[in-house]
Amino acid sequence: MTKKKIWFLVSLLILELVLVGVFFTKKDQPSAVEIDQTSQSTIQIESTDVEPIKEELPEHIDTKDWITSEETISFPILMYHSLTSSDDGNTLKVPPHEFKEHMEWLKENDYYTLSPEEAYIVLTQNKKPKDNIVWVTLDDGYLNNYTEGYPIFEELKLKGTINYITSKTDHDAYFHEKEMKEMSESPFISIESHTVSHLDLNTLSDEEIRNELVQSKDWLNQELNQETTVLCYPAGRYDERIEQIAEETGYKMAITTEPGYASINDGLFALKRVRVSPGYDKEQFGNYLTGT
Ligand SMILES: [Zn+2]
Repeated sequence: MTKKKIWFLVSLLILELVLVGVFFTKKDQPSAVEIDQTSQSTIQIESTDVEPIKEELPEHIDTKDWITSEETISFPILMYHSLTSSDDGNTLKVPPHEFKEHMEWLKENDYYTLSPEEAYIVLTQNKKPKDNIVWVTLDDGYLNNYTEGYPIFEELKLKGTINYITSKTDHDAYFHEKEMKEMSESPFISIESHTVSHLDLNTLSDEEIRNELVQSKDWLNQELNQETTVLCYPAGRYDERIEQIAEETGYKMAITTEPGYASINDGLFALKRVRVSPGYDKEQFGNYLTGT
């Protein structure tokens, strides 16, 4: 190799090192988005993230064909937990085959399953994508939501929201980061917050509530590259103080265990739900949901 060639290679190497140095120095500096901590609507983006935010609120949803309503819209938010057969009389567990029949009933009866973003538009703008709408929610983040529920949502092309307890990432009964990310990338599943530790919020101090709400939200935002907007109150425990903190910490809606259809009349932070117990086949589920 000639001396000239060697010098050429050496200078290329130096140039590369300088470029890499500049790149990494830049990354260490906070981005404009991070500096602006005061704006609640600002989507927090880590400066190292290059992927776009999965779902921005709510502009990307085309609502021009939605039905505007004269009366205040109310609709069922279904509440499920573990999708498993139970021999211990636990009324929170619904067997997967029953869950599938319920979802099939929704499909056959032309129900539109809402994402959290769509539910927010329904509630705040009083218009809906179809006559029959429903929001399917599953609490806690059981592993069977991934193994049993997720394939049903995918197969029937229906949407569901799983409210995850963010301290469960090393518990066998719950799904972990890998499954959570896979589902979150599907257009059919949304993952929202069920706090960090599933404590009764009304027994906690303001500071403790704030930690439960903020840490779970931040963790989900980071892991899933999303803006987490829904809080599901653990064991349905909430009061005005907790509603206030949920709003202050940047949530847009909160769902309770109080029975009934969801309506803006209850406020965005006290949305009622329809609990689904085990024992309903397709027809019984339909009758239960429509009150016939
Ligand atoms: Zn729960």
